[in-house]
Amino acid sequence: MIPVVDLKSMTLEELSGYFQELGQPGFRAKQVFRWLHRGIESFDEMSDLPRALREALKERCLLTVPRVERRQVSQVDGTIKYLWRLLDGNCIETVLMRYKHGNTVCVSSQVGCNMGCVFCASTLGGKVRDLSPAEILDQVIFTQKDSGAEISNIVLMGIGEPLDNFDHVLRFLTLVNHPDGLNIGMRHISLSTCGLRKKIDKLALLGLQLTLSVSLHAPDDETRSRLMPVNRAVGVGPLMETCRRYFETTGRRISYEYAMIDGVNDSDAQADRLAELLRGQPGHVNLIPLNDVAESPLKPSRRVRQFQQRLEGHGVTATVRRKLGSDIDASCGQLRRRHMDGGTSS
Ligand code: SAH
Repeated sequence: MIPVVDLKSMTLEELSGYFQELGQPGFRAKQVFRWLHRGIESFDEMSDLPRALREALKERCLLTVPRVERRQVSQVDGTIKYLWRLLDGNCIETVLMRYKHGNTVCVSSQVGCNMGCVFCASTLGGKVRDLSPAEILDQVIFTQKDSGAEISNIVLMGIGEPLDNFDHVLRFLTLVNHPDGLNIGMRHISLSTCGLRKKIDKLALLGLQLTLSVSLHAPDDETRSRLMPVNRAVGVGPLMETCRRYFETTGRRISYEYAMIDGVNDSDAQADRLAELLRGQPGHVNLIPLNDVAESPLKPSRRVRQFQQRLEGHGVTATVRRKLGSDIDASCGQLRRRHMDGGTSS
């Protein structure tokens, strides 16, 4: 029989219910919750559980343990990129970045992605499946365990569209935020989306204190639809309306991501238009130097500083994202993709 009870995807309350059904005392749930969030690799490691219970759990329950398929360590800045193999054989990526303000982990939310952005390596083979809450959480737990670096910040900016896996991502947030687990505060978490409007509205109603990043990448429909097929259904105007509502509801400033692409979205006129879009709304623009993806003809912009200055001239705050791990497979999705092809990494 294949164990189907995914204990690590359960909230503490659900675990309590589960152990109650098994006729166990009330404190079991917390014991098990703590072990799971500490990254045990076998039920035998739960040393304060009766042996019979450990055996019962082994028979009934799933214990997700990702295996390190590849680990690339940057010699330049200590960034580590993990390629994990999941229990069903699929691979996903996680990146550990070391900043002065703490260690940040960039996690994947799906195996592949269906959004089809033309500059992104993660979407080339489409979506294979959603990750479970435990599989998203495991990336934080096991990155911390493997690297020995204490994680203080999380960005949901790896492979996948987090809002296309809404329920599992929300459950992950609840789990990772829990005081008996990793206890990472919502203000230390960023969620990045290509702009699924209905889901942004749904998220707003929850009033979470996380930072929402919206991948904008172009201020006009023509360019944005060319880069991001989701825009054909969304449209820049309605998306910005949704963002405005999000701010009004949550009081949280949105961060707009803008990957700078040579000759596509980096003109002064586009900077002016972007500033116009953001007028009257406290937002922040994060300019990302495009990571070269071998399969794509798009090239990094040479006008990043000019574009930034132009925005600032309009009173828009814009920062240029520092590139980390430039000596290892750069943007997310590339390592998994090379691995799938059976190719060797550069
Ligand atoms: N699906 C989500 C989160 C994953 S991508 C989203 O779209 O936001 C995280 C960020 O990396 C997004 O802003 C995405 O557009 C950007 N990105 C993807 N490929 C890139 C590349 N080759 N160069 C620069 N940024 C890239």
